[in-house]
Amino acid sequence: MGLFTRRKTVMVDSDILVIGGGMGGCGATYESRYWGRDLKIVCVEKANIERSGAVAQGLYAINCYMGMQWNENRPEDHVRYARNDLMGLVREDLGYDIARHVDSTVHKFEEWGLPIMRDPETGRYQREGKWQIMIHGESYKPIVAEAARKAATEVYNRIMVTHLLMDKTRPNRVAGAIGFNVRNGNFYVFRAKAVIVAAGGASHIFKPRAVGEGMGRTWYAPWSSASAYALPILVGAKMTQMENRIVLTRFKDGYGPVGAYFLHLKTYTQNGYGQDYEPTWYESIKERVGDYVERHPVPTCLRNHALLEEVKAGRGPIRMVTKEAFKDPHKETVGWENFLGMTIGQAVVWASQNIDPKEINPELTTSEAGDAIGGSAHKFSSGSFTEGRIAGKAAVKYVKDLGAEQPQLSEAEYEDLKKIVYKPLENYEVGRNEIVAGTVSPSYLLPIHGLQRLEKIMDEYVGGIGALYTTNEPLLTRGLELLGMLKEDLAYLGAEDLHQLQRAWELQHRVLASECVTQHTLFRTETRWPGYYYRADHPKLDDKDWHCFTLSRYDRDSGKWEMEKAPVYHIVD
Ligand SMILES: Cc1cc2nc3c(=O)[nH]c(=O)nc-3n(C[C@H](O)[C@H](O)[C@H](O)COP(=O)(O)OP(=O)(O)OC[C@H]3O[C@@H](n4cnc5c(N)ncnc54)[C@H](O)[C@@H]3O)c2cc1C
Repeated sequence: MGLFTRRKTVMVDSDILVIGGGMGGCGATYESRYWGRDLKIVCVEKANIERSGAVAQGLYAINCYMGMQWNENRPEDHVRYARNDLMGLVREDLGYDIARHVDSTVHKFEEWGLPIMRDPETGRYQREGKWQIMIHGESYKPIVAEAARKAATEVYNRIMVTHLLMDKTRPNRVAGAIGFNVRNGNFYVFRAKAVIVAAGGASHIFKPRAVGEGMGRTWYAPWSSASAYALPILVGAKMTQMENRIVLTRFKDGYGPVGAYFLHLKTYTQNGYGQDYEPTWYESIKERVGDYVERHPVPTCLRNHALLEEVKAGRGPIRMVTKEAFKDPHKETVGWENFLGMTIGQAVVWASQNIDPKEINPELTTSEAGDAIGGSAHKFSSGSFTEGRIAGKAAVKYVKDLGAEQPQLSEAEYEDLKKIVYKPLENYEVGRNEIVAGTVSPSYLLPIHGLQRLEKIMDEYVGGIGALYTTNEPLLTRGLELLGMLKEDLAYLGAEDLHQLQRAWELQHRVLASECVTQHTLFRTETRWPGYYYRADHPKLDDKDWHCFTLSRYDRDSGKWEMEKAPVYHIVD
């Protein structure tokens, strides 16, 4: 018990608690203060908001900006674009709301000091494509974090949130959260009238292409550990569209982005024999998905599909034709700077592999299957901040409506959870005595081993890269059985120190989110997004039965999932 008694329990009261200080969390914190001048607003983050989340390393473009002040796009146009790219299924209401506020978000970023490039002729923001504008974004996150820091009553950095807490008088209402400080191990109990979960996406639930010491080199940020999904799943929230994972085409081995190359440098792709391969697959794609292939722009998943089929047909590797564009010194500079602002590793990979894009067309590949989207896609950094703002405003209204009513925490609940949270430290300390060398013990499982086991299950049974993104009902059913066994073993996770304790809880969150992804993938008996994943037993898009959302709900007492369909409302023609 010494392990627990050494640790202080810190109680934090707030009106609004924001979990995760990335783009969404900073937006929620900022906007909560705007509408709730007298409220206590707390933001809690497992890293440090200064450089946390998927934007931590900086970005080179803001991918969602309407440009309404110049009549460039309307929110309706963005809804149509996102709906088209997601093969008909998006929450149009959410997408519309984000789109109509996103410009004001970007204007705030500029006011706060973010340098946005301008077209010297028109004076407008420099466009990279229809929706993207170009920025000098190395310091994007520190600029956004500063606004959140000034807005928050308090920011708690280095706290890994592990569970939400329910109100003891109202079992279906969230009343707070718990977590631990990853530096000193103190236990934190947050009580709040409204809780906003903005803890980012999920990488590393599928096996990455890079292995061994390089396994952190995934497309999506490796620290995106699925808490945004697992925290609400555990308390019975309804999840939507968890089967809609995203797979992206990127430069091979470094996952450098291709957007600026396609859109700004006007580069294009070809197969290993220098041929344009996309038209080859037109008829077979049409056979699978009908007229979605005629849409403009062609949905991302279908372009992935053509690439994957071409490689399967033995005509790889697929290359980006950069040799022509890089002859122009301006474009060459833009091409390199594009990585220096956000994926410097790609430049290093090219240097290490003797690839000068002026002389050699670099290879492309598809990323590991990763992030889930939850029905409101294509918001990116600016849209995520905007969605956070919308959530913050709604939370303030909720808190004001509650009036003097205070949330009630159950001490027994958080004390029980405290024991569970620190258990991996105890498992390790006790089990370590059974071995004299090495890392493998008969009594505990290290987080890295659990993670590799998860990624193997997801890869082989749920359609990861090793299975060419393909799965079917028997595979998914077996995958769920294996995930169930993995979940049982998670009670024996062993953590050597606080860093490993964080890894242990990130793994717990990833496993639960993976189970949710698998349930949704099993439920939707069609292949709606070929190129993202394939249900080989239902290879075609089926608009008659599946032009709908999928919803799941987890019951933590029984461990069972309830699945249902929900209608898609088209509010834009
Ligand atoms: C490689 C890459 C390139 C991208 N390029 C662009 C681009 O060019 N342009 C663009 O506009 N967008 C781009 N994006 C998208 C953009 O980064 C995301 O849309 C945006 O960051 C999502 O915001 P978020 O708040 O949901 O998640 P994040 O910004 O990732 O924030 C989540 C936060 O939650 C914290 N957290 C997670 N779990 C916990 C926990 N349990 N307890 C406490 N804190 C927790 C994390 O540390 C993090 O700070 C890119 C993303 C990636 C990965």
